[in-house]
Amino acid sequence: MKNCAVVGINWGDEGKGRMVDLLTEDYDIVVRYQGGGNAGHTVINEKGKFALHLLPSGILRDGVINVLGNGVALDPENLWTEMEQVTSRGVAVTPENLKISDRASLLLPWHRRLDELEEMRLADKKYGSTKQGIAPFYSDKAQKKTLLAGELFYPEEFREHLLELMEWKNLTLTRIYGEKPYTETMLDEWMDAYCEKIKPFICDTGMYLREASEQGKKILFEAQLGSLRDLDYGICPYTTSSNAIAAYAPIGSGFPGARLDRVLGIVKAYSTCVGEGPFVSEMFGEAAERLREAGAEYGAKTGRPRRVGALDLVATAYGIEVQAATEIAVTKLDVLSNMEKIPVCTAYLVNGKKTSRFPFPAALKDAEPVMEYLDGWMCDISGIRKWEQLPKEAQNYVTYLEKSVGCPVTYISVGPERDCIILKDKEK
Ligand code: GDP
Repeated sequence: MKNCAVVGINWGDEGKGRMVDLLTEDYDIVVRYQGGGNAGHTVINEKGKFALHLLPSGILRDGVINVLGNGVALDPENLWTEMEQVTSRGVAVTPENLKISDRASLLLPWHRRLDELEEMRLADKKYGSTKQGIAPFYSDKAQKKTLLAGELFYPEEFREHLLELMEWKNLTLTRIYGEKPYTETMLDEWMDAYCEKIKPFICDTGMYLREASEQGKKILFEAQLGSLRDLDYGICPYTTSSNAIAAYAPIGSGFPGARLDRVLGIVKAYSTCVGEGPFVSEMFGEAAERLREAGAEYGAKTGRPRRVGALDLVATAYGIEVQAATEIAVTKLDVLSNMEKIPVCTAYLVNGKKTSRFPFPAALKDAEPVMEYLDGWMCDISGIRKWEQLPKEAQNYVTYLEKSVGCPVTYISVGPERDCIILKDKEK
């Protein structure tokens, strides 16, 4: 199996980083193809605990080459800060193991500021942005008001282009938001402090990937967020501003002809959602509090408490469909170990009509969950490494999930560390 995409099936935070870290044993290259520093992929292995934001999770495995593709929001400041953080902890980040696409657009200093300003303007109608500048970045990219990383190799033109963009953006900042304008000095400082530092890592990663593939190298595509946050297929407007689905992986990587042999969809054993938007199976009160604590459900990037809820089979089946997932990894099954009865949302009631199909976003506000309660196992499963040794209630929970969504479960994660994994019916 040559190429694999690891994607989130729900709202994100399913444990993609943890699964990428595990799978890198069998892959040569890891590519991030969309999103930016708003990701928070937590990885725990023999090197320690890391919350990776823009760096691909393969950076923690010696010998793996990591690529930031043309589809990412390349924030030089965040990236350089993150590179310094991981190198200070003994992880090598060099032009040999990190390659940045020359066609990636740069997230510019005003993008974060504009993101904050717009969320403030929206007030109680805010989208729940992480305020990392992602929406303004992708909007500008679509308007072609963008600077490509490769332009850094043409310093005079780069600066001229940057100043043109600054003049244009200052109009929005000063006239719409009443803010102070950016100045040439501010941008010169930004270029020196960050852009110059990442320059040695920039190259034609598309060509690199295409050649590597011809040589038989195995490529892992690492997504950020999940199906329900995808720009086209998610719950608009509570989506991110890029395509998080597997179909975008070849395009955002610079390898548009890449074939995905596997699409591993990551499904958390229950649901979580950071920020705003409809969340049909949401739980409240004490039960929610207990689940949040048991799963340590606080954002890796923002520290915000995540909203928690029951496993939502309607949303999950939809997520699997739009990802065209070929297999599933269920993560955090251990977190459910203290629940006598485990709630599962099996259908929605939309205006009194029962449906198992995920509705149009506007209909979600009227959707009510139809619940079932499966038996819990009430014992610690974090030390179990074999399917046969899982309590029968835990096996039932997993088989119920896979039957309901029509996709095989191949991995079950029972803890955050690399080795806390159970392989189920796995053909290697
Ligand atoms: P990602 O953005 O999809 O990579 O997910 P996050 O890193 O935001 O959230 C997943 C969190 O769950 C991280 O803190 C992981 O260390 C943790 N985690 C992943 N798998 C498991 C698991 O099977 N059990 C437990 N208890 N924690 C896990």
